[in-house]
Amino acid sequence: MTEKTSLVGLSIAELTSFVTALGEPAYRGKQIFAALHQRRLRSFEEMTDLPKALRDVLNEKATAATLIVESKYQSTDGTRRYLMKTHDDLPVETVFIPEERRDTICFSSQSGCPLQCTFCLTAQLGLLRSLTPGEIVEQIIIALNDVYGAGEKTPRGTNLVGMGAGEPFLNFDSLLNALRIMSEPQGLFIVPHRVTVSTAGIVPRIREVAQIPDRPNLAISLAAPTNELRDELMPINKKWPLEELLAACKEFEETLKPGEHFTFEYVMLAGKNDSEEHARQLANLLNRHELHAKVNLIPHNPAEPLPYQPSSADTVERFKLILESKGVHAYIRKPRGRDIFAACGQLAARRENNNFQAIKQSMVAL
Ligand code: SF4
Repeated sequence: MTEKTSLVGLSIAELTSFVTALGEPAYRGKQIFAALHQRRLRSFEEMTDLPKALRDVLNEKATAATLIVESKYQSTDGTRRYLMKTHDDLPVETVFIPEERRDTICFSSQSGCPLQCTFCLTAQLGLLRSLTPGEIVEQIIIALNDVYGAGEKTPRGTNLVGMGAGEPFLNFDSLLNALRIMSEPQGLFIVPHRVTVSTAGIVPRIREVAQIPDRPNLAISLAAPTNELRDELMPINKKWPLEELLAACKEFEETLKPGEHFTFEYVMLAGKNDSEEHARQLANLLNRHELHAKVNLIPHNPAEPLPYQPSSADTVERFKLILESKGVHAYIRKPRGRDIFAACGQLAARRENNNFQAIKQSMVAL
C-alpha cells in the first residue's frame, strides 16, 4: 500500500534525521516521537502542536499508523484479543491481559511462523512475514489506547511478553529495535526488565542475548523432556537438540543480574508429555545441567484442528509436585480468555479460513 515512512518504527535519532531532511528544526524529531509514543496519537491531524504545513508534509511522506484492528474479542475475565492487519493485509494477533497490579500485553513478532510446533495453530499458517519494529510497537499502542483511551495515562505498569505469533529470535534486529523504542522515557517507557521474550530455542541468539547488557527477560519453550518427544512436538529441536539448548541456557543463566528473570515454559498436553515419568525426566534434565530456572506449566488451549487436549488439573498438579520434590521450582499458569479463541493463532487461522471460504464462494459465483 505505502511507500511512506512509518514513523512509529524510528528511534528519536532516526526521527530527528527524518525531520531535518525535510528542512525542519531537530527538536521536531523529539516532539513527534513523544506524540507517537507518549501521547499515543495515531494520526498527524491530532498533533495540533505541529504547524499545519508540517502536518501536511508528514501526511504526504510518512505515516503515523499502519496496523488496523480487524476484530476484537473481550473475555469475561477482562482479557482482550485483537486481530490486526498490516498494510499488506497480513494477520497480527495481540492480547491484553489485565492483572491486579499490572497489565500484560502479549505481542507478535511475525505474521504466521516458520517453525512447526505441532501444538500451535500459528504454525499452520507458515511464515507470512516478519514484522517491522513499527508493527511490533504499534500493537502495544493500539491495545493501550483501546483499554484506556488515546493519550490517557495508564493506571498500572505494563509488562510485555513476546509470546504471540512468530519466533522472536528469527526477527531479532526488529525485535531489539522495537524494545529500544519502547524503553524510551519520552515514549512508552517500558524498560527491558518489564519484557519477557519467549523462544522455541534458537541457540545462537540465546548466546547473543547473554552478551547484551539491556536485554529482556528470557523464556524457553521446552514442551518435552527428551529429544525423541521434542523432535516430534517442536521440530526446531532437530537443529538444536536439548543438550545444546540447555548448555546455552546455562550460559545465559550464569549472566543473570538481579531483577532479571529466566524461565522455562512447558505446555501440558494430555497423554503426550504430562506423565509422572515425563516430570521425572524433566527434573533430571534440568538438574543435570544445573539449571535453577523456574518451570511454568502452561495449560494447552485446545483448538481445531490441533490433535491435543489440555492435561487435567490433577495431572498438572501432580507434575508440579514431582518437579518440586526434585528441587525444581514450578508454577501453574492460570488460563486466561478461554472463552475468546484463546489459542495462539486461532484468530489468524479463522481469518485465513474465512478468506479461503470467501475466495471459494466467489469462485463458485463466477
Ligand atoms: S509455538 Fe511459537 S515458535 Fe512454535 S510454531 Fe507457534 S508461534 Fe511458532
